[in-house]
Amino acid sequence: MNLPQAFLDRMKKRLGEDFPAFLASYETPPCKGLRVNTLKISAAEFSRRAPFPLGDNVGGDAACFYIEEEKPGADVYHFAGLYYLQEPSAMTAGCMAAGLNKRRVLDLCAAPGGKTTHLAQEMAGEGVLVANEVNYARAKILSQNVERMGIANCAVVSASPETLAARFPAYFDLVLADAPCSGEGMFKKEANAIPEWSAENVAMCAARQRAILDEAAKMVAEGGRLLYSTCTFAEEEDEWQVENFLSRHPEFSLVGMKKLYPHTFRGEGHFCALFARENGETLPKKPFPAQKNVQAERAFHAFAADFFSAPPEGEITTLADGRMYLVPAGLPDLSGASLVRLGVELGAWDGKIFKPAHALAMAFGAGANRKLSLTRGEAVGYLRGEPLQRDVPNGWCAVCVEEFPMGLGKCVGGTVKNHLPKGLRLVKAP
Ligand code: SAM
Repeated sequence: MNLPQAFLDRMKKRLGEDFPAFLASYETPPCKGLRVNTLKISAAEFSRRAPFPLGDNVGGDAACFYIEEEKPGADVYHFAGLYYLQEPSAMTAGCMAAGLNKRRVLDLCAAPGGKTTHLAQEMAGEGVLVANEVNYARAKILSQNVERMGIANCAVVSASPETLAARFPAYFDLVLADAPCSGEGMFKKEANAIPEWSAENVAMCAARQRAILDEAAKMVAEGGRLLYSTCTFAEEEDEWQVENFLSRHPEFSLVGMKKLYPHTFRGEGHFCALFARENGETLPKKPFPAQKNVQAERAFHAFAADFFSAPPEGEITTLADGRMYLVPAGLPDLSGASLVRLGVELGAWDGKIFKPAHALAMAFGAGANRKLSLTRGEAVGYLRGEPLQRDVPNGWCAVCVEEFPMGLGKCVGGTVKNHLPKGLRLVKAP
């Protein structure tokens, strides 16, 4: 691997006698990791059904595994949202959030969603999670991952940290700032980051992180926590960033730091720092102003009473274009940010008919009255967009691999029409 000499010199100075071990770590291939989506299946049950060998647990966490599978993203269980592929070191931030108060959580730099989906698992359906990504195209990818994992208590927005900080002073119990960084810790996994490395880029990243942290700090409720992470080794972005933050923000104290090196941990480089804000009160915030549409809601409830034995409950908002969302309980007013998803998309109302959405099946399909259970082999056909010939009652059904929903189908006279969104279909066999 052709690492920049200036980077190697810095690492040698920093690591001293550990430097040869650090350098030797580049001789081995990058580690791969998988996190079981415990919102859909327990880690023990997934281990029994795993379609490829699972290695050791990462950091002793029962839901996180090392894997060696070549194409773990091509399996039908992945489409069903039973797991998220995540670099093992990147699991640290989610694990650090495990014991914290997570009633109101903000993931400030969230795409593509590794840590958002991890936080959602740790929240286990309780509280409200706002996942923000400043880059709108990346926010759409984040939203797709939130949907695939069946997360119901998450809104995805796209705004700058400054915009959000102006809207949410002292509001969140936990703010995660997984900041853009120089990526030194990912050189093995993402070789295209290597030519972009320079001391000037490290300094630029440190200045940007400082600005992000200052905005993040404004949004932490008194008594709340701020979790900062990077995937770099540079002190300017890690330890010195922490020191500087504490000197600018005496209202925060450091709870702990973790720095992972590839020669001390089986994974790539990562850094996390957890700060606590001194006690006090959380500022109240106006609730999300749901847009009511009585006819649309009546149509949804009629559909849901038939489709589910226990329909999902909560406030519904209907957008001007007819799309309907189940708003997470406790969602604050998000005006000012571009809204990408407002909780679970239930479906669309065209003024006459309610049509259920794919997201409804991914979040709540396990509770559907009509489930069409496919084998893993049959599920590949569904993912390719093929219709199914089945003697099932007419109407909508949740199409599942075994008992895990993958999407919707609609049966008419023995043929189940495939309603998997075109953009999610397999173009080639996995
Ligand atoms: N947390 C994500 C995960 O676990 O999948 C990874 C986040 S990545 C390290 C950093 C993100 O910050 C990128 O998606 C990037 O678009 C976003 N970003 C870039 N510049 C930013 C800025 N000035 N303020 C906030 N976010 C920014």
